[in-house]
Amino acid sequence: MKKFAIAAKKDEISYALESKMKAALIQAGWQEDKQSPEIVLCIGGDGTFLYAVHKYMHLSNQVSFLGIHTGTLGFFTDYTKDEAEECIHDLLSKTPVFREVSLLEIQCDNKEKVYALNEMRIENIIRTQELDVMIDEEHFEIFRGTGMCVCTQSGSTAYNRSLRGAVIEQDLNLIQLHEITGIHHHKYHSLGVPFVLNSNRKITFTSNDFTNAFLCYDFLNQALDDVHQIRVQLSDKKIQLAKYREIPYLKRLKSLY
Ligand code: NAP
Repeated sequence: MKKFAIAAKKDEISYALESKMKAALIQAGWQEDKQSPEIVLCIGGDGTFLYAVHKYMHLSNQVSFLGIHTGTLGFFTDYTKDEAEECIHDLLSKTPVFREVSLLEIQCDNKEKVYALNEMRIENIIRTQELDVMIDEEHFEIFRGTGMCVCTQSGSTAYNRSLRGAVIEQDLNLIQLHEITGIHHHKYHSLGVPFVLNSNRKITFTSNDFTNAFLCYDFLNQALDDVHQIRVQLSDKKIQLAKYREIPYLKRLKSLY
């Protein structure tokens, strides 16, 4: 017997799949436990997977995640809606391999840390944001523009890709720093291209004025008006993917576009 929870996208196809999977698992003796599950089934897309990860992040030591996509294939999902029977069969008869996925750890001044699976962004869409970028203890650059994005390997295909950042292949545990519409001319310069960094790097953004800027992390955000420093690094906290089968990374990537 296993304790499970389901996080489903709010649409008809996902709700129908949720009912079907829930009934099959309960009939096989599994128990639904929304408070303390061992496995969370995420039905919808990569966005639903992110939502479920944040919902159950406080249980990251005990819970694993499995994604079922109701659209294409996705990066966090291993089954499509047409493979629901196969997914149920695998859940009930196979032992999964667990794969750890890194999270970003973000701290604004001395406030409580927050975590991101895809990326964190500092964004100021109202005015030019000026900020200093430190990498470890070294001053790296002064940036001027809309903001900065730091993504994980998993997040490299999300917002980072829209910024024309590099896609980072699975199992390369790296972080990527990228500008969001930086200003570059004779007076202002910053690197201007994506920077892929080692997993142990710590990036610090500082400014005396973050008025109107936001920290966006995955689908969440918070205002930065009274903040002066934002620190980001890969966290020791990780999430566990329950792998009942392996989908080649190139297959996922090719299904994206
Ligand atoms: P959302 O609707 O949940 O997601 C927006 C799109 O990003 C969806 O198509 C989603 O795929 C896809 N996505 C999410 N994580 C991905 C990943 N790791 N690799 C490839 N595609 C991924 O939007 P949201 O609630 O605002 O934000 C959640 C995430 O969406 C953010 O972390 C950000 O990376 C991404 N996003 C991207 C852009 C952009 O590219 N301009 C803008 C806003 C947000 P599914 O359809 O499978 O759910």
